[in-house]
Amino acid sequence: MSLLADPPTSFVPFSTLVARGPAASAGTRSLIDGYGRQIRDLRISVTDRCNFRCVYCMPEEGMQWLKRETILSFEEIERIAKIGVELGIEEVRLTGGEPTLRPDLPELVERLAQLPLRSLSLTTNGFLLRSLARPLAEAGLKRINVSLDTLQHDRFHQIARRRGLDEVLAGLEELERYPSISPIKVNVVAMRDFTEDEVVAFAELSRRKPYVIRFIEFMPLDADGNWQRERVLSGAEIKAIIERDFMPLVPVPAEPSSTSRRYTFADGVGEVGFINPVSQPFCGTCNRIRLTADGQLRTCLFSIDESDLRLPLRSGASDKQIADILIEAVSHKELKHKINEGEAFQRASRSMSQIGG
Ligand code: SAM
Repeated sequence: MSLLADPPTSFVPFSTLVARGPAASAGTRSLIDGYGRQIRDLRISVTDRCNFRCVYCMPEEGMQWLKRETILSFEEIERIAKIGVELGIEEVRLTGGEPTLRPDLPELVERLAQLPLRSLSLTTNGFLLRSLARPLAEAGLKRINVSLDTLQHDRFHQIARRRGLDEVLAGLEELERYPSISPIKVNVVAMRDFTEDEVVAFAELSRRKPYVIRFIEFMPLDADGNWQRERVLSGAEIKAIIERDFMPLVPVPAEPSSTSRRYTFADGVGEVGFINPVSQPFCGTCNRIRLTADGQLRTCLFSIDESDLRLPLRSGASDKQIADILIEAVSHKELKHKINEGEAFQRASRSMSQIGG
């Protein structure tokens, strides 16, 4: 069966859903999972399409796209976000696929910016930022992550299978003109036998520019299924390269739910971070859930199951009923991913670009 097959159209009555979960029956109106973790962070994918084909994420060809009519409208996304806020969501991040490909993205940002959120952010490959930075800033975007895995043109083409380094760098420059979007984070997916050579160049970039550079360990979420443990270049190894070739790093305190371990350089100029989901999993403090572009709620990047919100949304469910589905799904949030547990690890039911990283 295709990973992207439409979810079943049979509609589970809300009464059944509501009756099942312990959180729902307890009458609490917040998103607390079975392990006591309070969900505060909602990642929303606005499209599964992308203008790059990064080797660690998507196949070169053959991706099956979601049908247009399955993609949530801005009204539907806004409604779920609002209900989430009432249940304690404080941070919303828009992602994809490539979210800037969604027509009128600033309009969605503007709608979400009206909600009482602590953070409204975007994860993007940056290719279209030169023209979008301003409308996004004006719409109320507060934070941004730009993915960039190399600073060399030929390697960029090797990774993304598209040209675009100059556009991404120009997009980053443009962002600097809008201080209301801060910090500017640059995410580098680190892969063994590829990233080592560029670690120092990225560290230097973080000192030269107001960008926080974050190295992310390669996870088994690639659509091609080519992930191998040997290809994971750990955060500890990257940190050692920086400290050996460059200068000592000093830890910066971070929030407990933060995915990244942050460091500044000994002289205080520049910041780098390490997101180590493979070598140092942070599931214990995970406060995130994800909404796919087609309206499926995922409680873990590595979820096998999803909870359908689209059908209820389109079948006249009340806000309370939608909230009950969220509460019920969260009550079953996975304890942790099992990447390091050998046979027990099962690949997620969708790949990264289909989930919304
Ligand atoms: N297109 C946008 C972008 O490039 O940032 C947003 C979606 S992308 C799926 C979100 C993030 O997931 C990016 O930083 C990307 O590098 C990261 N990513 C994708 N596949 C990954 C993998 N297999 N392991 C680790 N990170 C991955």
